[in-house]
Amino acid sequence: MRLAPDLPPSVRRLLFEAGVEAEPPIERRIFTNRDLNFDNVPVVGFDMDYTLAVYDQDAMEALSIACTIDKLIARGYPERLSKLEPEPHFAMRGLLVDKRLGNVLKQDRHGYVGRAYHGLRALAKAERRATYRTQRLGGERERFVPVDTLFALPEVTIYANIVELLDRHPELWSGDRPSYAEAWDDVRACIDEAHRDGTIKDRIRAAPGSFIERDADLGPTLHKLRSAGKRLFLLTNSLLPYTDALMTYLLGDAMTAYGSWQAYFDWIVVGARKPTFFREPAAFVELDGTGEPSGSEVAVPQRGRIYQGGGQEGLQRALGVHPDEVLYVGDHIYGDVVQSKKSSGWRTALVVQDLEHELAVRRDFAVELADIEHLHRLRAQLAERLSQLRHVGRTLERFEAADVVAFGADPGEADVLLETSRANLRRRYDRTRAYFEEVQAALERREAAVDRAFNPYWGSMFAERHETSWFGAQVEDFACIYTSRVSNFLFVSPSRYFHAPRGRLPHFEVFR
Ligand code: IMP
Ligand code: MG
Repeated sequence: MRLAPDLPPSVRRLLFEAGVEAEPPIERRIFTNRDLNFDNVPVVGFDMDYTLAVYDQDAMEALSIACTIDKLIARGYPERLSKLEPEPHFAMRGLLVDKRLGNVLKQDRHGYVGRAYHGLRALAKAERRATYRTQRLGGERERFVPVDTLFALPEVTIYANIVELLDRHPELWSGDRPSYAEAWDDVRACIDEAHRDGTIKDRIRAAPGSFIERDADLGPTLHKLRSAGKRLFLLTNSLLPYTDALMTYLLGDAMTAYGSWQAYFDWIVVGARKPTFFREPAAFVELDGTGEPSGSEVAVPQRGRIYQGGGQEGLQRALGVHPDEVLYVGDHIYGDVVQSKKSSGWRTALVVQDLEHELAVRRDFAVELADIEHLHRLRAQLAERLSQLRHVGRTLERFEAADVVAFGADPGEADVLLETSRANLRRRYDRTRAYFEEVQAALERREAAVDRAFNPYWGSMFAERHETSWFGAQVEDFACIYTSRVSNFLFVSPSRYFHAPRGRLPHFEVFR
């Protein structure tokens, strides 16, 4: 049954508890890449930041940008940066930064660069192809930096603005100007410092409500999983004081049955140093209530205590189940999902906050998207016809009167016959070409309108033109399931069988 998406969460919950299986609004569905029988998952782990804790991205970006720019100015960057009014939609997940050239790129799943900006200026197609046509982007780790999490968006925005300043106002630097690569390293160092020295975190802890969304469905979601017999763990890179502040805000008094946020989790690991956590064994350091080490270090964490550090192997032993009976829910495409899938054998769920927007646009532009699909097929047919006509035309050009005579033409008419055939063919070619261009122009117009709605700079996060984007392909390859927020699990039964659509290769379609 489709419950009206605008019903308050409490009413939806009541109906759901009363046995009415709610089909959630489309933005809140869980999507499946790889079959997963939730019934066979007795342990579910959660990352905290951008997973359990849903940040207000605009507020978070504004804060990170302000804190980072202060630090850059203190390092000798121009004061002008403080007047920057950064465009919040400039960056998105899944992009790649080319440090050497000061560019930001979006690739499709094959590594083809479909869009690029130098600073805030879009590179024209010719410029883009000249630079990236033969470049193997994966090869130079030092040069290309993937934008893996929502934490990383502000640094991309600041970087693009600094590239603009370096190009347009080099005089603003009194001493040596940094290279594009040095500018990236400086931005990275400053935002890293702002995360580590408390500049950012202290502001969030002081007013969590300004930065974090309190999701009324979160406590009930975790409770529902626990009630179904699943055991839960928290595995976050954040340290205890920050974790405690956020989790208290999110869950401290969410449900009377739980006296504290800790009560929702069987195992708690903070300061986990993912992705290293998944690769290297390390001891778990037990913490006391204030977040200080209490002295004991263990190889296998115990339930009901709080640990810092550790490694996946030790945690796995504590969980007491096979790795494929563990589902880990995280937002970091590399640190939570790619790494954990590659090295731990855990099943993975990716939280993609931006999926809500992506789905809303797909719903609002369903007609245009269907039209684009159709125009794309039409363009492909016309392109094929054009290449056939070109081939016939070239062959016809090579023929001489004697050739057609040899095949039975009247010698007196052979020249005219050839000429009229060529002229006919040219007319057909020109007509088809005009049709092709008309379709191409309509396609570009439609695509531009839909792209603007997804993201005015980059289009859809999951697609690049008619291909899956690099990010989309990573989601497909590494996340067993993906969804926009943790509380979407509230809508599904704890024993749901998540079915992946059947894998398809082009030749499977032949007999459909
Ligand atoms: P998790 O997502 O819960 O594992 O935690 C992510 C943690 O990494 C948060 O505490 C962030 O503040 C922190 N973080 C994000 N970006 C950076 C960075 O660039 N340097 C240091 N810490 C970061
Ligand atoms: Mg996270």
